[in-house]
Amino acid sequence: MDIRGEVAGVKVGQVFADRRAVYDAGLHRTLVAGIAPKGYSIVLSGGYEDDVDDGDAIIYTGQGGRDQNTGKQIADQELTRGNLSLAQNMVQGVPVRVTRGRDLDSPFAPSAGYRYDGLYQVEDYWTERGKSGFLVYRFRLVRLDGQPPIAPGAGVIPRDLPAGTMAPRRVASVSSRVVRSTEVGLRVKQLYGFQCQFCGTILETPGGRYAECCHIKPLGRPHNGPDVMENVLCLCPNCHVRFDDYAVALNDDLTLTDTGQKIQLVDGHCIDVDYARYHRELMPR
Ligand SMILES: [Zn+2]
Repeated sequence: MDIRGEVAGVKVGQVFADRRAVYDAGLHRTLVAGIAPKGYSIVLSGGYEDDVDDGDAIIYTGQGGRDQNTGKQIADQELTRGNLSLAQNMVQGVPVRVTRGRDLDSPFAPSAGYRYDGLYQVEDYWTERGKSGFLVYRFRLVRLDGQPPIAPGAGVIPRDLPAGTMAPRRVASVSSRVVRSTEVGLRVKQLYGFQCQFCGTILETPGGRYAECCHIKPLGRPHNGPDVMENVLCLCPNCHVRFDDYAVALNDDLTLTDTGQKIQLVDGHCIDVDYARYHRELMPR
């Protein structure tokens, strides 16, 4: 029972006595490793000295390559197991639960036990040479909006972090390309095996296939489109941009307005043509 996303009955900010209690709550289904099966959860508890914890943003070092006795890095890390899972969760837009332990060297560490701090999104990952000279995987996680703020365990708000600590790795990538999936969006993408419904593109990356979920009637004001499967498409980034920016739309018979081709539809997924009409009405003319 590896639960993705929120765990029913567990509140953000809830404190647990030890790793066993965290495990039993369904938050982190492994007792020692920092990365839980499928990368659905991580526990921050000290591990790597060059991890960075700014509360709402974390740079987290992957697993592997360490001597079991000394904890020293003695080999390169690989894109396998937990590291691969976190990379896949970035590519697929799967959120990751974050729990902080008291041994963590951070103002956001709880004063006792382990505190569940809510859902984060893996926004980036990369390899770098650690201080040991071996390759390590690093993951940048950013806390999802709309959750209760984290209460620093020691009651301290950090003010003296080195400037630029959380600067993006690539200067040019200030705005991340990562498009967050809603649970519904994720379900639709999985239904299509991350293949674009418009053009059939499958975008392979080392972290698995990448696709985006596109809301036909847009979410948020003023459109207030619903986050339901009937309003969601699984698209490649190109087709997503073309749809959002009105280069293409859906006719009532679910053909594309530019080529006349019918979009791909799998069993269990129906598009509500009212949403397609709404989107067409938004188009410049
Ligand atoms: Zn496409």
